[in-house]
Amino acid sequence: MMNGASEQRETITEQFRAWLLSHAEDLVGFRREPQSSLSASIRHEQVFMSMLSEAGWTRYGWPQSAGGLGGNPEIRGLVIDELYAAGYYLPEPLTFVGIIGPTLLHYAEHLACEHLSSAISGDEVWCQGFSEPDAGSDLASLQTHARWDGTQFQISGHKIWTSYGHVADRCLLLARTGTRESRHHGLTAFWIDMHSKGVATKPIQCANGRDELSELFLDEVTVPMRQVIGDLDGGWQVARFLLQHERGAYAWQRQGWLQTRFRDALNESFQGSTGSELMVADSYLAWVMLRATSRRILLELAAGEDPGAQTSIAKIMLSTAERVGLDTIRSLLWPVFEEADHERAQAWRRDWFYTRAASILGGAVEVQRDLVADRVAGLPRSQ
Ligand SMILES: Cc1cc2nc3c(=O)[nH]c(=O)nc-3n(C[C@H](O)[C@H](O)[C@H](O)COP(=O)(O)OP(=O)(O)OC[C@H]3O[C@@H](n4cnc5c(N)ncnc54)[C@H](O)[C@@H]3O)c2cc1C
Repeated sequence: MMNGASEQRETITEQFRAWLLSHAEDLVGFRREPQSSLSASIRHEQVFMSMLSEAGWTRYGWPQSAGGLGGNPEIRGLVIDELYAAGYYLPEPLTFVGIIGPTLLHYAEHLACEHLSSAISGDEVWCQGFSEPDAGSDLASLQTHARWDGTQFQISGHKIWTSYGHVADRCLLLARTGTRESRHHGLTAFWIDMHSKGVATKPIQCANGRDELSELFLDEVTVPMRQVIGDLDGGWQVARFLLQHERGAYAWQRQGWLQTRFRDALNESFQGSTGSELMVADSYLAWVMLRATSRRILLELAAGEDPGAQTSIAKIMLSTAERVGLDTIRSLLWPVFEEADHERAQAWRRDWFYTRAASILGGAVEVQRDLVADRVAGLPRSQ
């Protein structure tokens, strides 16, 4: 017998599939990979986001108080999976909705109520400002500082590698409110209006030719107390919560993306170089493990549990599955992958380059291995 939750899951799946089928003609433009220009891609994807939100699909799994339609948060993952299974690409800004949205709901519900709905419909783009030129893996050494002037905070500093920074409207930013020596005890999370006076961005051209990342400069940006996320000096807890979603929910999104890219590759006319069969088997295994692990984490997060360092396992698997997967596709589509000049070949090469970044974004894989050895396997530390 089905319980209420699985009945709702089945009903939404069936209705969503039917909607995608009946709108196939209108949606055909959203079956292709994002373009090389980030702003052009986002403008295009905002139309898709607006359609999905208006029809309700991307609002399931979010509370009604924040503009959602209610239901178990796991439905959000289900909708993404169905989207990929039907041959569509997830609009890029929805990645951060899945990562920052739960964090706002948990630590600053008033901000979630004000902003979540606009982010789901594509009217507002979000970004995450953690990394700095001298603080990536060692986030506790970040130097961007927030000073309370008696009525509001004044934030100054320099962030880097901010995905979508130059097209974003809001940023969840970590800044130092304690002394430099306070390390992770003196950090606070803020909600920044990217159109505020004192905010400047500079796009970074990545190896794949895309301007997806940014430098972010803050010069005495004023932020009211109500835009503090969580407790003052409680930014580390907020960052840890967010990173669980970044490593868990993002891994789930990317396994869907990988599946779609494989299907696309099989639809191309290809020759395949020697040894491709074994590579296909390795890729399939890496993908299955990623899918199973990230699904388990997604369900735990949806149930309000704390998967903790388990998300580091998903992050390591993601990095392997992306690298092995695109190396395999490169081998299958040889020599088109490397030599052809048409848009499809360019998109393949962009993807191959991007998969090299999977071992870095969301926390370097070497650091995740340390976390797993320490907190999951309980291995003794080296002297
Ligand atoms: C595509 C992409 C998108 C990104 N988007 C964002 C974003 O939106 N917001 C944001 O804030 N950041 C973002 N980042 C930045 C990312 O989080 C950092 O690059 C990452 O945390 C690593 O930090 P770092 O670059 O400073 O490298 P470092 O910390 O300098 O590390 C360099 C290398 O040193 C090694 N290393 C470092 N410390 C250890 C250790 N303790 N144990 C073992 N090895 C170690 C690892 O091999 C690591 O790869 C993005 C990065 C990429 C590539």
